[in-house]
Amino acid sequence: MSTPPQTFEFQAEIKQLLDIVIHSLYTEKEIFIRELVSNASDSLEKLRHTKLTEKDILDESQELEVNLTTDDKAKTLTIQDFGIGMTRAELVENLGTIAHSGSKAFLKSLSESGQKNANLIGQFGVGFYSAFMVAKSVKVYSRSWRTSEPGHLWTSDGAGSYAIEEIADQRRGVKIIIELKDDCAEFSQEWKVKEILERYSAFVSFPINLNGKRINTVQALWLRSKNEIKDEEYTEFYKFQSHAYEEPRLRLHFSADAPLAINALLFVPKENTEKLGFSRLDPSVSLYCRKVLIDAKPKDLLPEWLRFLKGVVDSEDLPLNISRETMQDRALIEKLNKVITKRFIKFLEEEAKNRPDSFQEFYTQFGIFLKEGAAIDYTHKDQVVKLLRYESSLTEKGKTTSLADYVSRFQGDQKEIYYLIGANREALESGPYLEGFKARNLEVLFCYEPVDEYVMSNVREFDGKKLVAADHADVKLADLPKPPDDDGLSSEQVAALSAWIKETLGDRVTDVKASDRLVGSPALALNADKFMSPQMRRMMKAMNKDGGETPLKVNLEINPRHAVMKRLNATRESAPDKARLVAEQVLDNALISAGLLEDPTKMVARMYKLLESV
Ligand code: ADP
Ligand code: MG
Repeated sequence: MSTPPQTFEFQAEIKQLLDIVIHSLYTEKEIFIRELVSNASDSLEKLRHTKLTEKDILDESQELEVNLTTDDKAKTLTIQDFGIGMTRAELVENLGTIAHSGSKAFLKSLSESGQKNANLIGQFGVGFYSAFMVAKSVKVYSRSWRTSEPGHLWTSDGAGSYAIEEIADQRRGVKIIIELKDDCAEFSQEWKVKEILERYSAFVSFPINLNGKRINTVQALWLRSKNEIKDEEYTEFYKFQSHAYEEPRLRLHFSADAPLAINALLFVPKENTEKLGFSRLDPSVSLYCRKVLIDAKPKDLLPEWLRFLKGVVDSEDLPLNISRETMQDRALIEKLNKVITKRFIKFLEEEAKNRPDSFQEFYTQFGIFLKEGAAIDYTHKDQVVKLLRYESSLTEKGKTTSLADYVSRFQGDQKEIYYLIGANREALESGPYLEGFKARNLEVLFCYEPVDEYVMSNVREFDGKKLVAADHADVKLADLPKPPDDDGLSSEQVAALSAWIKETLGDRVTDVKASDRLVGSPALALNADKFMSPQMRRMMKAMNKDGGETPLKVNLEINPRHAVMKRLNATRESAPDKARLVAEQVLDNALISAGLLEDPTKMVARMYKLLESV
């Protein structure tokens, strides 16, 4: 009774296009599953829509779902939906014409009547042909929702032609049977298909079942309104989407309208795994378009220093390239990047203000990333610097201050922000450098991490105020009023003693002078090298770089009120040999405090000599 199959040749240009789709459009073969599931979802969405206006629909009560079945013996994969289906004419039009998108046409007819549908995925009219990357042959069983239309079978091997024949007993919708090429037989393995569905299609709105088991159990939360979502739902989503075991530390759910309409759901994990010694994190905020994964690890969606973030960014009108694997528009990605980054920084600012304890815990784990951002992300530097926190000479141990709060405590005509780098609070507090600042009530930031050196020298200034290392020779401090009972050396004595020390120490020091910043210590060494801090010098040495070998440049500053200096001044004439040993020793002690003493062997020998003379 049924008519014999009718064979159609693909047109010449279409053959060429088909060849491109099959051999070079997609980087991964597995995306054919994403494409066919997206088509099934579109078809279900169209049916849902059609039901609103049409009464006479075939198989009215059929569930709106997608079913996949694998058969690894027969090496086939079947994808079935109970959607809108296609008539004979539609099969010719949609599957016989490459680059014709029935979905786009559907959207267009909607928009002509002033409607919109953000759920439809298809637009380019090529996705279907991706099946031929893996298929020996593709069979499409189809039956339209229109009750008057019979079912049809469309078949092709993707080479030159396709055939259509009428068939009986077909349910509404489309069933595609893919007979896999031998080297693509893996796509008839259940575990393999499951993995692919979970990656690309986990958030498709309609139920997806694989061999009878539901795959997509978690909703695309980012598209729902915040007020409706419970904490547990967020946690469940996070664990699923980020493959995490713990709850997230922080979350930010927001939408933005410019430069594109986006919905984003971002999470900060509990732990910083880089800090725990695991390898460098990959960017892992995934990019979605209409709930379908575009790129799980997009490189430029966020700046590198935000690589600890997890979550999803979705935009329904992302300008995708035709393979739907990337975005076309570089400039737009940069804009997106800025919008999301700004929003996240603002979120952290609010967190710091409203929940300081939670922010501090976050900072302990992830502060290192903020430092990286402050040092190298010139676009966001000014914003990120505001989030940095340091202990200081005025905070309690374990409590921190922001740079803004530091500036609000500026003393008198203070113009600079001072910092010291050292192993820990005790080391910095007991060193000689802080004395002068303390005596003048000047606050000094304490930096304990090796990267701080790099951060401070890259950040350079905050709010127009320079960041200055408190142990650098260029720092000038205001005069302190002389104590009334000052019994220190006179200025002539100081000048003579300084000259003598300079002569005695020779090349070991660049300059010797009375200090404006010493209170309880006899002397200190100041790094006089503009280009290399003590920390850098140590690093270069550790890495065996040349810089570590250049001679030290230090200024020695002496404290004219200190007993050691008074005594040295007295002995340099009465016992010059011993005075020379003392001068050398004072310098070495100062270098130790500065972390600059490189070879202690001479010092040990000298110490014994000094001890002999006691
Ligand atoms: P796109 O999805 O970008 O439109 P495809 O090549 O994936 O392009 O599909 C071409 C067209 O074929 C679709 O627009 C749709 O009209 C039709 N089509 C594909 N799969 C189905 C399906 N499962 N049910 C109904 N129509 C389909
Ligand atoms: Mg498609």
